[in-house]
Amino acid sequence: MSQEFDIAVIGGGIMGCATALRLSEGGMRPIVLDQGDLGQGASGVNAGTLSLQIKRVKLMPYALKGHHAWEAMGEAVGFHKTGGYTLAFTEREAGLLHERQALKAGAGAPISFVSERELRAAEPMLTRKVLAASHCPEDGYANSSLTGQYYRGRLRDQGIAYRERCPVTAIDRDVGFALTTAGGPIRARRLLLAAGAWLKPVAALLGVDLPVRARINTVSVTERMPPLTASVIGHATGLLTMKQKPNGTVLVGGGWQGRGTPQAGRGQVSADSVMPNLALAQYALPALARARVLRSWTGFEANVPDFYPLAGALPGVEDAFVLGCVRGGYTIGPYIGGLMGDFILGREPELPLFDPARDFNEDTI
Ligand SMILES: Cc1cc2nc3c(=O)[nH]c(=O)nc-3n(C[C@H](O)[C@H](O)[C@H](O)COP(=O)(O)OP(=O)(O)OC[C@H]3O[C@@H](n4cnc5c(N)ncnc54)[C@H](O)[C@@H]3O)c2cc1C
Repeated sequence: MSQEFDIAVIGGGIMGCATALRLSEGGMRPIVLDQGDLGQGASGVNAGTLSLQIKRVKLMPYALKGHHAWEAMGEAVGFHKTGGYTLAFTEREAGLLHERQALKAGAGAPISFVSERELRAAEPMLTRKVLAASHCPEDGYANSSLTGQYYRGRLRDQGIAYRERCPVTAIDRDVGFALTTAGGPIRARRLLLAAGAWLKPVAALLGVDLPVRARINTVSVTERMPPLTASVIGHATGLLTMKQKPNGTVLVGGGWQGRGTPQAGRGQVSADSVMPNLALAQYALPALARARVLRSWTGFEANVPDFYPLAGALPGVEDAFVLGCVRGGYTIGPYIGGLMGDFILGREPELPLFDPARDFNEDTI
């Protein structure tokens, strides 16, 4: 016999779980379904950087609210507000950094430029080759490997149903939605697609073609090192994020691409991209030359051609919704999930959503 819910959420990443929490607070009875474990996708393998300095200007209000949400989650997600520095090593990078950070400061991020002396006092182990550095006291990080455990606990505490290792393989429309899953049939009056890099095949189950593409980002971690840096460190190009965890390990990311597709399963680390990523990290923090890299891994991140989120009604399917493709989605997820929940509950979201039926023109600012 199939079980019936007010809404089925396909995808138990940060987007699906955060939305389910708001829906339940609003009186709906959701079920969250994941093909693996909760938080096993991008939400559980990302670099965990919560940096306003690397967010898109238009998404700044969402990122600022997201930061408050992370602060409230605190230790349970390994949250640390460390402040962050973004570095430029060349005149061109310094120009780029000034231009971008001015726009972000204008959008409300507390970003300012620091002198060489201030940078050295705060971060003495950084290279002396820094031409310009911006600082944001709000920046920090969380531990993405705690995402699944955290949300599993929150869903359980709130009495929200969830099923893991339960891929949705078919969706039929009659009165509401009839889902075929590995855990048996499920019926729901509404549907939220929150399947991350797998949004395209999941939307195709409803005959909808979403212009979702996937990137495969790489993250590396070193062995434990003596204290090297107390802040989140980034680079003007966005090609480096780095932070040292309380246990001494240094996590290095920056969106360098590995190999593979979400459909094929696990991705592969590519030496061609992990090496320059680590070289840039070492350039910024020369003491890393002595560090051994313990592990590099990849994860799939979704986007659409204009690099803005998909957040709203699923085009052409009544009572179906979609949330995903949020750049910096780990930072923004807990907040935009709440907005999505409000929208589905029929409430006016505090900030506007991003209509999935819009025209997608490339926009990379
Ligand atoms: C390596 C990497 C580093 C990143 N670093 C950062 C960072 O430092 N800071 C930041 O803010 N953002 C970062 N991001 C982006 C961020 O991780 C993502 O934007 C965010 O986690 C996306 O959340 P999601 O819930 O949409 O997707 P996911 O977390 O991928 O969740 C989607 C879920 O859907 C499930 N699913 C798919 N198909 C089905 C199906 N048919 N049936 C049931 N379940 C299904 C999957 O198993 C998965 O758990 C990074 C991303 C990657 C990949």
